[in-house]
Amino acid sequence: MKNDYLLLTPGPLSTSESVRQAMLNDWCTWDDQYNKEIVQVIRDKLVKLATNKNTYTSVLMQGSGTASVEATIGSALGKQDKLLVIDNGAYGARIAEITDYLQIDCTTIRQGETEQANLQLLEEALINDPAITHVAMVHCETTTGMLNPIEAFCKIAKAHNKVVIVDAMSSFGGIEMDIGELDIDFMISSANKCIQGVPGFGFVVAKQSQLERCKGQARSLSLDLHAQWLCMQENHGKWRFTSPTHTVRAFYQALLELEQEGGIKQRQTRYQTNQLTLVKGMRELGFETLLPDHQHSPIITSFYSPTESQYDFKTFYERLKAEGFVIYPGKVSNADCFRIGNIGEVYPEDITRLITAIKSVIYWEEVA
Ligand SMILES: *Cc1c(COP(=O)(O)O)cnc(C)c1O
Repeated sequence: MKNDYLLLTPGPLSTSESVRQAMLNDWCTWDDQYNKEIVQVIRDKLVKLATNKNTYTSVLMQGSGTASVEATIGSALGKQDKLLVIDNGAYGARIAEITDYLQIDCTTIRQGETEQANLQLLEEALINDPAITHVAMVHCETTTGMLNPIEAFCKIAKAHNKVVIVDAMSSFGGIEMDIGELDIDFMISSANKCIQGVPGFGFVVAKQSQLERCKGQARSLSLDLHAQWLCMQENHGKWRFTSPTHTVRAFYQALLELEQEGGIKQRQTRYQTNQLTLVKGMRELGFETLLPDHQHSPIITSFYSPTESQYDFKTFYERLKAEGFVIYPGKVSNADCFRIGNIGEVYPEDITRLITAIKSVIYWEEVA
């Protein structure tokens, strides 16, 4: 049951043996036990993790995280509505791309991938374009590891009375926040990120009043967020179409383990320790981070690739994999980087072992 290697990626990530073990059964999708005791409990727990306010509800959606983003964008915006997206990385760009597919009116604040979301540009856009009804931003831009300023973003958007959509895919469960205090309308995340479940579905925690307004607006049958929510709401957790039962059961176990760890605050502390240990160790080996420390999330870090001519990512990757660690290629367009994630069933000791492994494989001149 042991994993072959430790995933140091932003999802899917390394899960605990007990989360994987929880999948070793088959469940009936319309059975009360499955729906009432697993799905409904998950929905309640997600809301409680996201906020202390009782005006929020949650809905689970089959597919990878992008499906939940697409369901939200395609359901929350009506025919006359217009979205503003902040794009400072691949995931912000993906939200804009979704609006292209769905033919939703959209304006994009396009920034460099190493620039934090520019809130002055946001404010100007909201003043100059009254047609904008909704705004969207990625919380942790997994492209680089950038943490965008969520509080200030929400404050400006709400001062202009906009509906706020946040892609908190790679941060929810790993970074403390109360989406009710922030007045976020739709918060999107997925099973295989900081909650440490396995891939297969995403979820949205939203203001119930906003979800109700989505009725009849979806541009896709299977990605109708409102219909999915209503079905779960009226049938004690029943999914409209075949639910990913094993993934859901594993997610339930992952939520229990998050509680056992002490909740989001404790998990954030572990991730933070992982990330600081990683950056310190890598700097001692001569690596440099793409972003300055104050912009960093405790989730994933981009490092510049070594400049030695013998370096190539694939060799580096394979050698590290042989040592039991899987890292991630870079995703930044104008810099040669690789990424190391530190979320999942990963502890500071693992990062220390990783640094030792990297030290043992970075003598490029010996790579024949
Ligand atoms: C992982 C991730 C997604 C969703 O990616 P999928 O591959 O569809 O699961 C979306 N946004 C962010 C910020 C992410 O990190």
